[in-house]
Amino acid sequence: MLNINKRLYLSPPHMGNHEKELVAEAFASNFIAPLGPMVDAFEREMATHTGIPYCLALNSGTAATHLALRHLNIGAGDVVLASTLTFIGSVTPVLFQGASLVFVDADPQTWNMDPIRLEEAIQLCTRQGRKPRAVIPTDLYGQCCDYDRLSAICSPLGIPLIVDAAEAMGARYKGVHSGKGAYAAIFSFNGNKIITTSGGGMLASEDRALIEHARKLSQQAREPLPYYEHTEIGYNYRLSNVLAAIGRGQLQVLEDRVQCRRRIFSAYQKALGDIRGVSFMPEAAYGKANRWLTVMLLDPSVLTTNPEHIRQALEEHNIEARPVWKPMHLQPVFAGCTRVGGNVAETIFQQGLCLPSGSAMTDSDVERVSEIVRKNLLNQGKD
Ligand SMILES: *Cc1c(COP(=O)(O)O)cnc(C)c1O
Repeated sequence: MLNINKRLYLSPPHMGNHEKELVAEAFASNFIAPLGPMVDAFEREMATHTGIPYCLALNSGTAATHLALRHLNIGAGDVVLASTLTFIGSVTPVLFQGASLVFVDADPQTWNMDPIRLEEAIQLCTRQGRKPRAVIPTDLYGQCCDYDRLSAICSPLGIPLIVDAAEAMGARYKGVHSGKGAYAAIFSFNGNKIITTSGGGMLASEDRALIEHARKLSQQAREPLPYYEHTEIGYNYRLSNVLAAIGRGQLQVLEDRVQCRRRIFSAYQKALGDIRGVSFMPEAAYGKANRWLTVMLLDPSVLTTNPEHIRQALEEHNIEARPVWKPMHLQPVFAGCTRVGGNVAETIFQQGLCLPSGSAMTDSDVERVSEIVRKNLLNQGKD
């Protein structure tokens, strides 16, 4: 059947009013390069916005994590602890460095790294004679993990916390921006994130030495000499000056985008939350999530339908929905890795569905999605 409706994507880019102007400015200056005034300004504005003093613009969030690990000299024989309920880009840099991973289960109240499980994981590694060299917790779907509790565990042991805030631009923890207070934070401006540069990332830290070294590593580790001299090996990870212009425009509308996504979340919750067996990702009392994606849970003991049926029903209407991230410890590439915890992440994966959440969605878009979901849940619900 021909579908006349325009495709509704999960989380498409949403440009504001100034990105084009800023890109034109980048063209006019002829800094069509991975350095230039837009990159400098984007870094300054990110520092102001997040309250994290040193920022380095990069071509991806994954690159940001990689540089943090490189700076910490994490390599073969080392172990890094990470959230199992995350996107793989969060943890691949650990493998780039030849280190190994131990995955930590989620807290059912926040869906983020469970501090109790983190302690267990540290004890386990310590017993095996492998002190963890870093912890990478993810701020899942734009909700901050419990930084204070994670820091209270890691700080006394001297284990740096590298927060994966890729999905959490604009989210707050106890009133401060996501990532602030950690040893380092990474952000992503990939095309599907709450704000985007089409592709890009940022490494942010209070440690000036980290950012300076990461900056050098990001440009092929060139020494500050007139000729090209290299005493260590680096990468080509810088963000284009043209794309930084897009980022600056997006940063201006970030707070509006957070409000939109939160409003969309509330609208779904209002439209579907009364159905028995339906629930939504909880919001921790300590913070304010950006609700990057609205995630719904379907309880299989109450409902006969499952997230995949709903996803297919939406797809028939040209609407994109997506399963929750498949936990890392279930990924074939991580077969044999240690996982500490129970089945929290697995259960969220089995029962969860990410609904279209783009900040440009209209009220009637949300209503249309909700009606299709509702109809499919009620027609197939057990009584
Ligand atoms: C998007 C994302 C990343 C990676 O960001 P890129 O900019 O695509 O490299 C890492 N972690 C999480 C949780 C993400 O959602």
